[in-house]
Amino acid sequence: MNYPPLYLRKNSERTVRNGHPWIFSGAVDRRPKDADTGDVVDVFDSNQRFVCRGFYNKRSLIRVRSLTQDASCPIDSAFFEQRIAQAVEYRRSTDLASVTNAMRLVHGESDGLPGLIVDDYAGYLSIQLHTAGMEQQRQVVLDALHTVLSPKSIFERSDVGTRRAEGLKDRPTGLLAGEEPPEFVEIEEHGVRLHADLYRGQKTGFFLDQRDNRFLLQRLAGGKKVLNLFSYSSGFSAHALKGGASHPLDVDISQQVMLSARRNLTANCPAESKAELLVADIFPFIDELADRGPRYDIVVIDPPSLLRKHNQLKQAMGVYTKLNRNAFRLVADGGLLVTASCSARVSQDDFFQIVRRAASGARVRTRILTYNQHSADHPVDPAFPDGRYLKCIFARINR
Ligand code: SAH
Repeated sequence: MNYPPLYLRKNSERTVRNGHPWIFSGAVDRRPKDADTGDVVDVFDSNQRFVCRGFYNKRSLIRVRSLTQDASCPIDSAFFEQRIAQAVEYRRSTDLASVTNAMRLVHGESDGLPGLIVDDYAGYLSIQLHTAGMEQQRQVVLDALHTVLSPKSIFERSDVGTRRAEGLKDRPTGLLAGEEPPEFVEIEEHGVRLHADLYRGQKTGFFLDQRDNRFLLQRLAGGKKVLNLFSYSSGFSAHALKGGASHPLDVDISQQVMLSARRNLTANCPAESKAELLVADIFPFIDELADRGPRYDIVVIDPPSLLRKHNQLKQAMGVYTKLNRNAFRLVADGGLLVTASCSARVSQDDFFQIVRRAASGARVRTRILTYNQHSADHPVDPAFPDGRYLKCIFARINR
C-alpha cells in the first residue's frame, strides 16, 4: 500500500478531520509528484501527519475527495464492497422496503463514495459515475455492485454536466451489464404504480428524493383540485389521484417526459377522473395564469435547480420568490402550496425567506404545515452540509 503523498498548508486539515470529504485547491501546499487526475493519494498535514486517503483531481477546485481517514485501509475491491454493503444495510434498517421497490442505494459522499450514485428500480440499477476517481475505479465498482447486489442489470446514466466539471469526457449512457431493462421500469411507492424511464428520463430515470413529499400530498389531496408545476413524470399527481384528487393539471417544458407522465397518471387515475398534461414554459405560463386569480386547492411547485454558481444566489432567490408569489396567487382560500427547492446553495433559511417574501407579495397569510428534506435513502452526513439539498414546504394559506 503505497499512495503518492500530498501535503496540506498549515491548519488546513481541520474540516477533513471533522469529516468533510473535500479538500480545495487552496489548501494544498505540495501536490503529489507521481499522481494523475483520478488516482488515489495520501494526504498529510503540515506536520507530516496522515489526514486521509482520497481521489485526486488536479483539474478540479475540489483537489481531493476523501475516502477514508484510516491509514491502514487500502482502496481496493474489498473497500468498495464494504462501503456498498454498508450503504445497502443502512437502507435495510429503514422501513423503505415495506413501502417501495425503488430506492437510492448509494448517495455519493453521504455514503462515503464520492461521485457514485446507484438507484435501484425493482432490481434494475441505474448508476452515475461523476468523479475522475470513481471513473478510474469503474470496473472495480461494477464488480462490487454485482457481488453485493446481484442486480438484474446495471445501466449507466452519468450526468454529463457534472462530469465536465471534473474534466471527464462525456460518456454515452447505456447498458453496462445484465439484461436490457424494459422501456419503462414499473415501480411502486406507497401503493402508487409508477414508471421509471432509464433510457430517456432525467437523472437516473426518476426523482426518488421527493417520495415522502409525494406521499404526504396523497394523504392531503382527497377531493382537491391540483395544479402540478414542473411535473416531470407526474409523480405528485399520481399520488394525488391515488389520494382522491380529481382532474389534476400537470405542466412541464419537456415533451420527452410526457410518455412516462401519461403512463403514471393513467395507472392511478380512477375511471371517473381525468388528468391533463400540458407542455409549456412555466415562467410565462404562471405569470398569465396567476393574473386570473386563485383557482386551485393545491399547487405543487418543484422547479429544477435555478442556480449553478455561488454568485447567482441573489438573482436565483429573486426568481424563486417570483415563482412562489405567482403560485400563492393561484391557491384558493384554505388551500395548500407545496413548494420545493433542490439547490444545495439555497439554504433552509434562504428558502424560508423566499416563502415569506412570496406570501407577503401575494398578500396571503401562511402557516407552515411541514418542512421536509429528501427521503431517508438520500441520507445526510452532518459533516457534509453540501449534501443537504432538497427543501420542501407544505404551506396552508388564508386570504
Ligand atoms: N416534481 C417532479 C420532479 C421535477 S424535476 C417529480 O416529483 O418527479 C424538474 C422538472 O422541471 C423537469 O421535468 C424539467 O423538465 C422541468 N422544467 C425545467 N424548466 C422548466 C420550465 N421553464 N418550464 C416548465 N418545466 C420546466
